[in-house]
Amino acid sequence: MAPTVTDATGQPGANGSAGASGTAAASGTTGTAASAGSSAQAGADAQAGTSRQAGATTRTVTELADGRELIYYDRGTPPTARAVADLRPLDAVAPSSEVRQDPMTGAWVTVAAHRQARTYHPPADECPLCPSREGRLSEIPAGDYQVAVFENRFPSLAGEPGTHPVPPALDDPLHSRGPGIGRCEVVCFTADHDASFADLDEDHARLVLDAWTDRTAELSALPGVRQVYCFENRGTEIGVTLAHPHGQVYALPFVPPRTAKMIDRAARHRAATGRNLFDDLVAAERASVGSGSVASASADSPAGNSPSDYPEDSRVVLAGEYWTAFVPFAARWPYEVHLFPNRRVPDFTGLNEDERAEFPRIYLDLLRRFDRLFGDGGQQVRAPYIAAWHQAPAGHEDEIALHLELFTVRRTADKLKYLAGTESGMEAFMNDVAPEFAARRLREVGQAPAAASTPETTAETTAETTTETTADTTAEEAQR
Ligand SMILES: [Zn+2]
Repeated sequence: MAPTVTDATGQPGANGSAGASGTAAASGTTGTAASAGSSAQAGADAQAGTSRQAGATTRTVTELADGRELIYYDRGTPPTARAVADLRPLDAVAPSSEVRQDPMTGAWVTVAAHRQARTYHPPADECPLCPSREGRLSEIPAGDYQVAVFENRFPSLAGEPGTHPVPPALDDPLHSRGPGIGRCEVVCFTADHDASFADLDEDHARLVLDAWTDRTAELSALPGVRQVYCFENRGTEIGVTLAHPHGQVYALPFVPPRTAKMIDRAARHRAATGRNLFDDLVAAERASVGSGSVASASADSPAGNSPSDYPEDSRVVLAGEYWTAFVPFAARWPYEVHLFPNRRVPDFTGLNEDERAEFPRIYLDLLRRFDRLFGDGGQQVRAPYIAAWHQAPAGHEDEIALHLELFTVRRTADKLKYLAGTESGMEAFMNDVAPEFAARRLREVGQAPAAASTPETTAETTAETTTETTADTTAEEAQR
């Protein structure tokens, strides 16, 4: 599993004697050095700063001053400057959180009061996710990096997974509770503070996929971890407190509510049809694409790049050779896309090389379409979004399929969807945009250059948006 990631033998850099009063640490991993025959060439490429060796990702494991783990992921052999000591005088934090089960719904709630002290909208020159430089030490001691992952200093879940089994307190079913064990990691997608995931090139996006895969393999092996959840929040509208492009990985000690519902639905579907729910779902969506388009898709001439390939009512946005993206039949959000590998796998570690190779093109295309949805007088209005990667929890690998649920809370260039009475109060979503319309828009914006569209499309969109906005307002007022 995770066949493309190999460990580098980290070279400890400067030791902690440079006047820092705290504990400085930089321990190189003792993992096996990359053994691929091409590693020498990859190293030469990396040092020369040229294009990186395709198909080989190296990781370097180090430790931050307070004992948290930091891992660098590099395409090819990383520069020896990766294992740089963290010279900050950081005290180890002892986060304590608790999980409690709602006796009415069975949902687990994490209570982490210590998170109130976490970093909140720091100025750009104090960004903790930028590489360190002289006089400005961040969470990343190295002066540069490609992708870096570290344990969150203010985690919602912490502690040694497996030391406290969940669920506890079976003798008191109304008050099931336990320590919030697990692990929360931050994934820095790039050293470029002003970039966004959609700005990455395909090689770099592949590196992030390799990092997600590696984290999934490693964290799901920890005792007590039930599910590894990789996600990205993008945009202040979502509540992002750090502008630097990054995502997170949560190793959860429980099965979250949405997954629990999917497990139930998959079991019912299996009982009723003898088939897998996700297999049927993806096949049905792909079948809605114009005949021949899906079968003829390839990396050179992918189907799904021309709206004319699709009937009006198709919800498919992109049909690749190995991946399919579609707006779900009962989409909850104004613009919501689910992305599945065509071949069902339980999690990132199950993807084969063909699927991994096609992923960057498909995923970057999707994100860029989201960024083209909301133009405002020729100016690009980037869509705030949540990218949520669903992976099979432990024990459900046979039925639950790896997939992405990508959605934005933006309805129009100047209107957001807020979760209010029906959604927050009852978990009943009211969506103002028809899923088939959303799919059509997402197909159209794939054709237009960024932040622009044909006059015809603009006129049509404006008209529809206006109508939709009026309807929105009325509906929302009616709900109040
Ligand atoms: Zn930054």
